[in-house]
Amino acid sequence: MSSPSVVDPRPGAAPDQTWDPASIRGDFPMLERTIRGRPIAYLDNAATALKPRSVIDEVVRYYQDVTANVARGVHTASQEATERFETVRHQVGMFLGSRPADEVVFTSGTTGAINLVAQSYGRAVLRPGDEVLVTEMEHHSNLVPWQLVAEQTGARVRAIPITGSGEVDLGWLERNRSDRTKIVAVCHVSNVLGTVVPVARVAALAHEMGAVCVVDGAQGVPHLRVDVGALGCDFYAFSAHKLFGPTGLGVLWGRQPLFERMPPWQGGGGMIARVEIEKSSFAPPPARFEAGTPPIAEVFGLGAVLDYLAALDRRAFEHEDRVVRYAEELLRAIPGVILHGAAPGRVGLVTFSVEGVHPHDVGTALDAGGVAVRAGHHCAQPLMARLGVTATVRASFAPYNTRREAEALAEGVEQAKRVFGQ
Ligand code: PLP
Repeated sequence: MSSPSVVDPRPGAAPDQTWDPASIRGDFPMLERTIRGRPIAYLDNAATALKPRSVIDEVVRYYQDVTANVARGVHTASQEATERFETVRHQVGMFLGSRPADEVVFTSGTTGAINLVAQSYGRAVLRPGDEVLVTEMEHHSNLVPWQLVAEQTGARVRAIPITGSGEVDLGWLERNRSDRTKIVAVCHVSNVLGTVVPVARVAALAHEMGAVCVVDGAQGVPHLRVDVGALGCDFYAFSAHKLFGPTGLGVLWGRQPLFERMPPWQGGGGMIARVEIEKSSFAPPPARFEAGTPPIAEVFGLGAVLDYLAALDRRAFEHEDRVVRYAEELLRAIPGVILHGAAPGRVGLVTFSVEGVHPHDVGTALDAGGVAVRAGHHCAQPLMARLGVTATVRASFAPYNTRREAEALAEGVEQAKRVFGQ
Protein backbone atom coordinates (compact mmCIF):
# COMPACT_ATOMS: atom_id res chain seq x y z
CA MET A 1 0.00 0.00 0.00
CA SER A 2 1.33 3.42 -0.89
CA SER A 3 0.70 6.28 1.47
CA PRO A 4 0.01 9.49 -0.42
CA SER A 5 2.02 12.62 0.09
CA VAL A 6 -0.11 15.57 1.10
CA VAL A 7 2.76 18.07 0.98
CA ASP A 8 1.93 20.38 -1.85
CA PRO A 9 4.25 23.19 -2.85
CA ARG A 10 1.80 24.83 -5.26
CA PRO A 11 0.19 28.09 -4.14
CA GLY A 12 -3.48 27.85 -3.29
CA ALA A 13 -3.37 24.09 -3.04
CA ALA A 14 -3.79 23.42 0.66
CA PRO A 15 -3.67 19.81 1.76
CA ASP A 16 -7.00 18.24 2.53
CA GLN A 17 -7.31 18.38 6.32
CA THR A 18 -10.72 16.84 6.61
CA TRP A 19 -10.43 13.29 5.36
CA ASP A 20 -7.33 11.33 4.42
CA PRO A 21 -7.58 8.76 1.61
CA ALA A 22 -4.71 6.90 3.29
CA SER A 23 -7.38 5.69 5.72
CA ILE A 24 -8.87 3.46 3.02
CA ARG A 25 -6.06 2.88 0.51
CA GLY A 26 -4.98 -0.23 2.39
CA ASP A 27 -8.41 -1.74 1.69
CA PHE A 28 -7.68 -1.91 -2.06
CA PRO A 29 -5.02 -4.51 -2.92
CA MET A 30 -4.59 -3.16 -6.48
CA LEU A 31 -3.12 0.04 -5.03
CA GLU A 32 -0.11 -1.96 -3.85
CA ARG A 33 1.06 -2.75 -7.36
CA THR A 34 3.50 -0.85 -9.47
CA ILE A 35 3.29 -0.10 -13.18
CA ARG A 36 6.63 0.18 -14.98
CA GLY A 37 8.35 0.58 -11.63
CA ARG A 38 6.07 3.38 -10.42
CA PRO A 39 3.24 3.18 -7.90
CA ILE A 40 0.01 2.88 -9.82
CA ALA A 41 -2.11 6.05 -10.03
CA TYR A 42 -5.41 4.47 -10.95
CA LEU A 43 -7.48 7.16 -12.66
CA ASP A 44 -9.67 4.89 -14.78
CA ASN A 45 -12.44 4.36 -12.24
CA ALA A 46 -15.22 5.20 -14.69
CA ALA A 47 -14.16 2.17 -16.76
CA THR A 48 -14.10 -0.05 -13.69
CA ALA A 49 -13.40 0.77 -10.06
CA LEU A 50 -10.94 -1.07 -7.81
CA LYS A 51 -12.29 -3.70 -5.44
CA PRO A 52 -11.82 -3.64 -1.67
CA ARG A 53 -10.43 -6.75 0.02
CA SER A 54 -13.77 -7.40 1.75
CA VAL A 55 -15.47 -7.73 -1.66
CA ILE A 56 -12.79 -10.06 -3.00
CA ASP A 57 -13.01 -12.12 0.20
CA GLU A 58 -16.78 -12.40 -0.08
CA VAL A 59 -16.55 -13.66 -3.67
CA VAL A 60 -13.96 -16.20 -2.53
CA ARG A 61 -16.16 -17.18 0.42
CA TYR A 62 -18.92 -18.11 -2.01
CA TYR A 63 -16.58 -20.36 -4.01
CA GLN A 64 -14.85 -21.82 -0.94
CA ASP A 65 -17.66 -22.26 1.53
CA VAL A 66 -21.09 -21.78 0.02
CA THR A 67 -20.90 -23.02 -3.56
CA ALA A 68 -24.38 -24.07 -4.59
CA ASN A 69 -26.98 -22.90 -7.05
CA VAL A 70 -29.71 -20.60 -5.80
CA ALA A 71 -33.47 -21.12 -5.61
CA ARG A 72 -33.12 -24.71 -6.74
CA GLY A 73 -31.91 -27.01 -3.98
CA VAL A 74 -33.12 -28.10 -0.58
CA HIS A 75 -29.64 -28.86 0.70
CA THR A 76 -28.00 -26.61 3.28
CA ALA A 77 -25.47 -24.84 1.06
CA SER A 78 -28.15 -24.08 -1.52
CA GLN A 79 -30.36 -22.61 1.17
CA GLU A 80 -27.48 -20.53 2.53
CA ALA A 81 -26.58 -19.25 -0.93
CA THR A 82 -30.22 -18.43 -1.69
CA GLU A 83 -30.64 -16.61 1.57
CA ARG A 84 -27.55 -14.49 1.01
CA PHE A 85 -28.55 -13.83 -2.62
CA GLU A 86 -31.99 -12.58 -1.60
CA THR A 87 -30.55 -10.56 1.29
CA VAL A 88 -28.38 -8.69 -1.20
CA ARG A 89 -31.44 -8.02 -3.37
CA HIS A 90 -33.01 -6.48 -0.29
CA GLN A 91 -29.81 -4.47 0.39
CA VAL A 92 -29.86 -3.12 -3.19
CA GLY A 93 -33.47 -2.01 -2.71
CA MET A 94 -32.45 -0.15 0.45
CA PHE A 95 -29.42 1.36 -1.33
CA LEU A 96 -31.67 2.79 -4.05
CA GLY A 97 -33.91 4.55 -1.54
CA SER A 98 -35.65 1.94 0.62
CA ARG A 99 -37.41 0.15 -2.24
CA PRO A 100 -38.92 -3.34 -2.01
CA ALA A 101 -36.63 -6.18 -3.04
CA ASP A 102 -38.99 -7.39 -5.77
CA GLU A 103 -38.24 -4.19 -7.70
CA VAL A 104 -34.62 -5.32 -8.07
CA VAL A 105 -33.59 -7.53 -11.00
CA PHE A 106 -30.04 -8.83 -11.29
CA THR A 107 -28.61 -8.59 -14.80
CA SER A 108 -25.20 -8.94 -16.43
CA GLY A 109 -24.51 -5.20 -16.22
CA THR A 110 -25.94 -1.81 -17.13
CA THR A 111 -25.88 -2.95 -20.74
CA GLY A 112 -27.87 -6.09 -19.90
CA ALA A 113 -30.35 -4.04 -17.86
CA ILE A 114 -31.04 -1.52 -20.63
CA ASN A 115 -31.39 -4.27 -23.23
CA LEU A 116 -33.91 -5.92 -20.92
CA VAL A 117 -36.04 -2.75 -20.77
CA ALA A 118 -35.72 -2.23 -24.53
CA GLN A 119 -36.62 -5.79 -25.47
CA SER A 120 -39.31 -6.37 -22.87
CA TYR A 121 -40.97 -3.01 -22.19
CA GLY A 122 -39.92 -1.25 -25.41
CA ARG A 123 -40.83 -4.06 -27.75
CA ALA A 124 -44.25 -4.40 -26.12
CA VAL A 125 -45.22 -0.72 -26.21
CA LEU A 126 -43.52 0.84 -29.24
CA ARG A 127 -45.52 1.25 -32.45
CA PRO A 128 -44.47 2.59 -35.87
CA GLY A 129 -43.87 6.35 -35.63
CA ASP A 130 -43.33 6.35 -31.85
CA GLU A 131 -40.22 7.96 -30.44
CA VAL A 132 -37.52 7.05 -27.99
CA LEU A 133 -35.64 10.11 -26.74
CA VAL A 134 -32.05 9.84 -25.58
CA THR A 135 -29.45 12.60 -25.11
CA GLU A 136 -26.53 13.44 -27.33
CA MET A 137 -24.13 12.30 -24.63
CA GLU A 138 -25.28 8.72 -24.08
CA HIS A 139 -22.93 5.78 -23.75
CA HIS A 140 -23.58 3.34 -26.61
CA SER A 141 -25.23 1.07 -24.00
CA ASN A 142 -28.05 3.58 -23.68
CA LEU A 143 -28.33 4.14 -27.41
CA VAL A 144 -27.79 0.96 -29.43
CA PRO A 145 -30.43 -1.11 -27.52
CA TRP A 146 -32.98 1.60 -28.42
CA GLN A 147 -31.88 1.56 -32.06
CA LEU A 148 -32.37 -2.21 -32.14
CA VAL A 149 -35.88 -2.07 -30.72
CA ALA A 150 -36.73 0.91 -32.93
CA GLU A 151 -35.75 -1.17 -35.94
CA GLN A 152 -37.93 -4.05 -34.73
CA THR A 153 -41.00 -1.89 -34.05
CA GLY A 154 -40.86 0.96 -36.58
CA ALA A 155 -40.20 3.53 -33.85
CA ARG A 156 -37.40 6.06 -34.11
CA VAL A 157 -34.65 7.28 -31.82
CA ARG A 158 -34.13 11.02 -31.44
CA ALA A 159 -31.54 12.90 -29.41
CA ILE A 160 -32.17 15.72 -26.98
CA PRO A 161 -29.31 18.11 -27.77
CA ILE A 162 -26.76 19.17 -25.19
CA THR A 163 -25.66 22.76 -24.64
CA GLY A 164 -22.13 24.12 -25.09
CA SER A 165 -21.37 23.44 -21.43
CA GLY A 166 -22.51 19.83 -21.78
CA GLU A 167 -25.93 20.05 -20.13
CA VAL A 168 -29.15 18.52 -21.39
CA ASP A 169 -31.12 21.18 -23.27
CA LEU A 170 -34.30 21.03 -21.20
CA GLY A 171 -35.78 23.87 -23.25
CA TRP A 172 -35.60 21.63 -26.33
CA LEU A 173 -37.34 18.86 -24.40
CA GLU A 174 -40.10 21.23 -23.29
CA ARG A 175 -40.59 22.56 -26.82
CA ASN A 176 -40.60 19.10 -28.37
CA ARG A 177 -43.10 17.40 -26.08
CA SER A 178 -45.05 14.89 -28.09
CA ASP A 179 -47.45 12.08 -27.35
CA ARG A 180 -45.43 10.00 -29.83
CA THR A 181 -42.66 9.86 -27.25
CA LYS A 182 -42.97 6.62 -25.29
CA ILE A 183 -39.56 6.31 -23.67
CA VAL A 184 -37.07 8.93 -22.46
CA ALA A 185 -33.72 7.30 -21.70
CA VAL A 186 -30.98 9.41 -20.14
CA CYS A 187 -27.75 8.92 -18.24
CA HIS A 188 -27.68 10.04 -14.62
CA VAL A 189 -24.05 11.16 -15.05
CA SER A 190 -22.24 11.46 -18.38
CA ASN A 191 -19.28 9.07 -18.60
CA VAL A 192 -17.41 11.65 -20.68
CA LEU A 193 -18.36 15.07 -19.33
CA GLY A 194 -19.31 14.23 -15.74
CA THR A 195 -22.54 16.21 -16.21
CA VAL A 196 -25.26 15.33 -13.70
CA VAL A 197 -28.54 15.15 -15.60
CA PRO A 198 -31.52 16.67 -13.74
CA VAL A 199 -33.35 13.37 -13.80
CA ALA A 200 -36.29 14.54 -11.67
CA ARG A 201 -37.11 17.26 -14.23
CA VAL A 202 -36.59 14.92 -17.20
CA ALA A 203 -38.79 12.26 -15.58
CA ALA A 204 -41.53 14.83 -14.88
CA LEU A 205 -41.47 15.95 -18.53
CA ALA A 206 -41.48 12.33 -19.70
CA HIS A 207 -44.53 11.60 -17.57
CA GLU A 208 -46.33 14.68 -18.91
CA MET A 209 -45.91 13.14 -22.37
CA GLY A 210 -47.16 9.78 -21.14
CA ALA A 211 -43.67 8.28 -21.52
CA VAL A 212 -41.53 6.33 -19.06
CA CYS A 213 -38.11 7.54 -17.94
CA VAL A 214 -35.21 5.08 -18.04
CA VAL A 215 -31.99 6.10 -16.28
CA ASP A 216 -28.55 4.74 -17.06
CA GLY A 217 -27.02 5.05 -13.61
CA ALA A 218 -23.67 3.40 -14.41
CA GLN A 219 -21.80 6.60 -13.53
CA GLY A 220 -24.42 7.82 -11.06
CA VAL A 221 -24.19 5.34 -8.18
CA PRO A 222 -20.40 5.64 -7.77
CA HIS A 223 -20.66 9.37 -7.01
CA LEU A 224 -24.19 10.31 -5.98
CA ARG A 225 -26.59 9.18 -3.31
CA VAL A 226 -29.43 7.70 -5.36
CA ASP A 227 -33.06 7.64 -4.31
CA VAL A 228 -35.07 6.41 -7.26
CA GLY A 229 -38.33 7.53 -5.63
CA ALA A 230 -37.07 11.11 -5.36
CA LEU A 231 -35.69 10.96 -8.93
CA GLY A 232 -39.14 9.97 -10.14
CA CYS A 233 -37.76 7.68 -12.85
CA ASP A 234 -39.36 4.36 -13.83
CA PHE A 235 -36.23 2.27 -14.41
CA TYR A 236 -32.68 2.71 -13.09
CA ALA A 237 -29.73 0.58 -14.26
CA PHE A 238 -26.21 0.23 -12.90
CA SER A 239 -23.17 -2.06 -12.96
CA ALA A 240 -21.59 -3.56 -9.84
CA HIS A 241 -18.06 -3.29 -11.22
CA LYS A 242 -18.13 0.50 -11.44
CA LEU A 243 -19.23 0.56 -7.79
CA PHE A 244 -16.15 -1.30 -6.44
CA GLY A 245 -17.84 -4.66 -7.05
CA PRO A 246 -17.42 -7.69 -9.31
CA THR A 247 -17.70 -7.66 -13.09
CA GLY A 248 -20.54 -9.49 -14.83
CA LEU A 249 -23.29 -8.18 -12.56
CA GLY A 250 -25.74 -5.33 -12.98
CA VAL A 251 -28.97 -4.17 -11.46
CA LEU A 252 -32.19 -3.10 -13.07
CA TRP A 253 -34.52 -1.35 -10.68
CA GLY A 254 -38.04 -0.89 -12.00
CA ARG A 255 -41.43 0.12 -10.69
CA GLN A 256 -43.41 -2.93 -9.63
CA PRO A 257 -46.57 -2.22 -11.69
CA LEU A 258 -44.43 -1.86 -14.83
CA PHE A 259 -42.48 -5.04 -14.11
CA GLU A 260 -45.79 -6.87 -13.54
CA ARG A 261 -46.98 -5.96 -17.04
CA MET A 262 -43.70 -6.72 -18.81
CA PRO A 263 -43.21 -9.98 -20.72
CA PRO A 264 -40.04 -11.99 -20.21
CA TRP A 265 -37.15 -11.16 -22.51
CA GLN A 266 -35.09 -14.32 -22.15
CA GLY A 267 -36.40 -17.80 -21.40
CA GLY A 268 -34.91 -20.60 -19.34
CA GLY A 269 -34.73 -22.05 -15.87
CA GLY A 270 -35.74 -20.03 -12.86
CA MET A 271 -38.16 -17.67 -14.62
CA ILE A 272 -41.15 -19.95 -15.09
CA ALA A 273 -44.31 -20.85 -13.21
CA ARG A 274 -45.23 -23.89 -15.34
CA VAL A 275 -43.77 -25.35 -18.53
CA GLU A 276 -45.44 -27.60 -21.09
CA ILE A 277 -44.04 -28.58 -24.47
CA GLU A 278 -45.90 -25.93 -26.41
CA LYS A 279 -46.26 -23.14 -23.90
CA SER A 280 -45.19 -21.81 -20.53
CA SER A 281 -46.39 -19.44 -17.88
CA PHE A 282 -43.98 -17.24 -16.04
CA ALA A 283 -42.90 -16.42 -12.51
CA PRO A 284 -43.67 -12.98 -11.11
CA PRO A 285 -40.91 -10.35 -11.22
CA PRO A 286 -38.05 -10.24 -10.42
CA ALA A 287 -37.59 -13.97 -11.20
CA ARG A 288 -39.38 -13.50 -14.56
CA PHE A 289 -36.39 -11.50 -15.77
CA GLU A 290 -33.64 -13.72 -14.38
CA ALA A 291 -33.46 -16.73 -16.73
CA GLY A 292 -30.75 -19.27 -15.97
CA THR A 293 -28.19 -19.42 -13.20
CA PRO A 294 -27.52 -15.86 -12.06
CA PRO A 295 -24.10 -14.37 -11.20
CA ILE A 296 -24.19 -15.71 -7.62
CA ALA A 297 -20.62 -15.04 -6.50
CA GLU A 298 -20.90 -11.54 -7.94
CA VAL A 299 -24.10 -10.88 -6.00
CA PHE A 300 -22.28 -11.98 -2.83
CA GLY A 301 -19.57 -9.45 -3.73
CA LEU A 302 -22.11 -6.69 -4.30
CA GLY A 303 -23.47 -7.31 -0.82
CA ALA A 304 -19.98 -6.70 0.56
CA VAL A 305 -19.72 -3.49 -1.53
CA LEU A 306 -22.93 -2.16 -0.01
CA ASP A 307 -21.64 -2.95 3.50
CA TYR A 308 -18.36 -1.22 2.65
CA LEU A 309 -20.13 1.89 1.34
CA ALA A 310 -22.45 2.03 4.33
CA ALA A 311 -19.41 2.19 6.62
CA LEU A 312 -17.51 4.68 4.46
CA ASP A 313 -17.23 8.22 5.76
CA ARG A 314 -19.33 10.47 3.51
CA ARG A 315 -16.46 12.99 3.56
CA ALA A 316 -14.68 10.52 1.28
CA PHE A 317 -16.84 11.77 -1.60
CA GLU A 318 -16.17 15.41 -0.75
CA HIS A 319 -12.48 14.53 -0.86
CA GLU A 320 -12.95 12.84 -4.25
CA ASP A 321 -14.63 15.95 -5.53
CA ARG A 322 -11.78 18.17 -4.33
CA VAL A 323 -9.23 15.94 -6.07
CA VAL A 324 -11.22 16.14 -9.32
CA ARG A 325 -11.31 19.96 -9.07
CA TYR A 326 -7.59 20.01 -8.29
CA ALA A 327 -6.78 17.84 -11.31
CA GLU A 328 -8.89 20.12 -13.45
CA GLU A 329 -7.07 23.20 -12.11
CA LEU A 330 -3.67 21.65 -12.83
CA LEU A 331 -4.66 20.64 -16.36
CA ARG A 332 -6.23 24.01 -17.11
CA ALA A 333 -2.89 25.65 -16.31
CA ILE A 334 -1.08 23.62 -19.01
CA PRO A 335 -0.94 25.47 -22.36
CA GLY A 336 -2.57 23.44 -25.13
CA VAL A 337 -4.85 21.42 -22.85
CA ILE A 338 -8.53 21.70 -23.78
CA LEU A 339 -11.01 20.64 -21.10
CA HIS A 340 -14.34 19.24 -22.29
CA GLY A 341 -17.51 19.86 -20.29
CA ALA A 342 -18.28 22.76 -18.03
CA ALA A 343 -21.62 21.86 -16.46
CA PRO A 344 -21.92 23.14 -12.90
CA GLY A 345 -21.79 20.36 -10.29
CA ARG A 346 -20.20 17.79 -12.59
CA VAL A 347 -18.73 14.78 -10.83
CA GLY A 348 -16.08 12.12 -10.91
CA LEU A 349 -13.88 12.89 -13.88
CA VAL A 350 -11.97 15.25 -16.14
CA THR A 351 -11.98 14.80 -19.91
CA PHE A 352 -9.50 16.66 -22.06
CA SER A 353 -7.55 16.91 -25.29
CA VAL A 354 -3.96 18.05 -25.77
CA GLU A 355 -3.35 20.15 -28.86
CA GLY A 356 -1.10 18.38 -31.34
CA VAL A 357 -0.94 15.11 -29.36
CA HIS A 358 -3.16 12.12 -30.08
CA PRO A 359 -5.13 10.97 -26.99
CA HIS A 360 -3.60 7.49 -27.29
CA ASP A 361 -0.12 9.04 -27.12
CA VAL A 362 -1.16 10.98 -24.03
CA GLY A 363 -2.42 7.71 -22.53
CA THR A 364 0.84 5.95 -23.38
CA ALA A 365 2.96 8.73 -21.85
CA LEU A 366 0.83 8.63 -18.71
CA ASP A 367 1.15 4.86 -18.47
CA ALA A 368 4.92 5.21 -18.55
CA GLY A 369 4.57 7.21 -15.33
CA GLY A 370 2.20 4.67 -13.75
CA VAL A 371 -0.91 6.77 -14.41
CA ALA A 372 -3.87 4.74 -15.76
CA VAL A 373 -6.43 6.75 -17.74
CA ARG A 374 -8.83 6.00 -20.59
CA ALA A 375 -8.02 7.33 -24.04
CA GLY A 376 -10.54 6.83 -26.84
CA HIS A 377 -14.14 7.55 -27.75
CA HIS A 378 -15.47 6.25 -24.40
CA CYS A 379 -18.29 4.39 -26.19
CA ALA A 380 -19.87 7.77 -26.92
CA GLN A 381 -19.20 8.38 -30.60
CA PRO A 382 -22.17 10.75 -31.13
CA LEU A 383 -20.84 12.92 -28.30
CA MET A 384 -17.34 12.85 -29.81
CA ALA A 385 -18.88 14.12 -33.06
CA ARG A 386 -20.70 16.87 -31.12
CA LEU A 387 -17.39 17.87 -29.48
CA GLY A 388 -15.64 17.81 -32.87
CA VAL A 389 -13.08 15.18 -31.85
CA THR A 390 -12.63 11.47 -32.48
CA ALA A 391 -11.23 10.70 -29.06
CA THR A 392 -10.26 12.31 -25.77
CA VAL A 393 -8.36 11.47 -22.59
CA ARG A 394 -10.42 10.82 -19.47
CA ALA A 395 -9.11 10.73 -15.91
CA SER A 396 -11.77 9.40 -13.56
CA PHE A 397 -11.58 9.37 -9.79
CA ALA A 398 -12.66 7.50 -6.67
CA PRO A 399 -12.35 8.36 -2.97
CA TYR A 400 -9.00 6.54 -2.67
CA ASN A 401 -7.34 8.85 -5.21
CA THR A 402 -4.96 11.49 -3.92
CA ARG A 403 -3.82 14.99 -4.77
CA ARG A 404 -0.41 13.49 -5.55
CA GLU A 405 -2.05 11.33 -8.22
CA ALA A 406 -3.68 14.40 -9.73
CA GLU A 407 -0.19 15.94 -9.89
CA ALA A 408 1.21 12.78 -11.51
CA LEU A 409 -1.54 13.17 -14.14
CA ALA A 410 -0.52 16.77 -14.87
CA GLU A 411 3.18 15.82 -14.97
CA GLY A 412 2.42 13.01 -17.41
CA VAL A 413 0.52 15.39 -19.69
CA GLU A 414 3.51 17.77 -19.69
CA GLN A 415 5.70 14.81 -20.55
CA ALA A 416 3.38 13.78 -23.39
CA LYS A 417 3.63 17.29 -24.82
CA ARG A 418 7.45 17.13 -24.66
CA VAL A 419 7.67 13.70 -26.27
CA PHE A 420 4.82 13.76 -28.81
CA GLY A 421 4.05 17.47 -29.33
CA GLN A 422 5.21 19.25 -32.46
N1 PLP B 1 -23.48 3.57 -19.32
C1 PLP B 1 -22.46 4.35 -18.93
C2 PLP B 1 -22.71 5.81 -18.66
C3 PLP B 1 -21.19 3.81 -18.80
O1 PLP B 1 -20.17 4.58 -18.43
C4 PLP B 1 -21.00 2.44 -19.06
C5 PLP B 1 -19.66 1.84 -19.00
O2 PLP B 1 -18.68 2.48 -19.21
C6 PLP B 1 -22.10 1.67 -19.42
C7 PLP B 1 -23.33 2.27 -19.54
C8 PLP B 1 -21.98 0.21 -19.70
O3 PLP B 1 -21.69 -0.49 -18.53
P1 PLP B 1 -21.41 -2.07 -18.59
O4 PLP B 1 -20.36 -2.25 -19.65
O5 PLP B 1 -20.93 -2.39 -17.22
O6 PLP B 1 -22.68 -2.73 -18.95
